[in-house]
Amino acid sequence: MRILVVEDEKGISNFLKDGLEEEAFAVDVAADGKKGIELSFVNEYDLILLDWMLPGVSGIEVCRQIRKINSSVPIIFLTAKDTVSDTVYGLDAGANDYIKKPFRFEELLARIRVQLRTKDGEQNTLKLANVEMNLDTHRVFVNSKEIMLTPKEFSLLEFLIRNKGKVCTRTRIIEHVWDMHFDSDTSVIDVYINFLRKKLNDESGKSFIHTIRGVGYIMHDE
Ligand code: CA
Repeated sequence: MRILVVEDEKGISNFLKDGLEEEAFAVDVAADGKKGIELSFVNEYDLILLDWMLPGVSGIEVCRQIRKINSSVPIIFLTAKDTVSDTVYGLDAGANDYIKKPFRFEELLARIRVQLRTKDGEQNTLKLANVEMNLDTHRVFVNSKEIMLTPKEFSLLEFLIRNKGKVCTRTRIIEHVWDMHFDSDTSVIDVYINFLRKKLNDESGKSFIHTIRGVGYIMHDE
């Protein structure tokens, strides 16, 4: 899952980027509102964290601009403002939630999970055939036996299972699992698919990840 962080305070954006990457998200950072709008138009994000007080274009205006072309991406405001009228104003501008600064990272993560769950109408567990992923604890089981995945492997598997039964093109995989600093050499996907297949193989040698030659990958339970 790929997240855009729009935040001008470098200390906070670095902290968010590092923390979210540890949780297997791909993270892009925009240091002002204009850049935030630009990135949200160019890339496909699963969620946006938006600071309210930004130099130039304010967070409220960024939110309105994004909503004009994208009605579904969840937006969470990060704000030092906490009066009722401010939060109502923020939600009216199209945000889904807000979190007051300073916040605890655990609480932010919980709110992110709520938004991603609401978006997909899903529980905290993803299942496909003999594979089960717990999105809250990041534990993955094959035939009820736990396997260890790196954050990137976890993120790739999550994307494939969320899209089970659909072909995931290399472009979409890159867009959702890798961030904008990625050099767009998609062969890295094949490397990670191989890692995943090895770890997911059960005794019957099945991994349920199928290659669609020249296009991408698909996961289904046969
Ligand atoms: Ca700020």
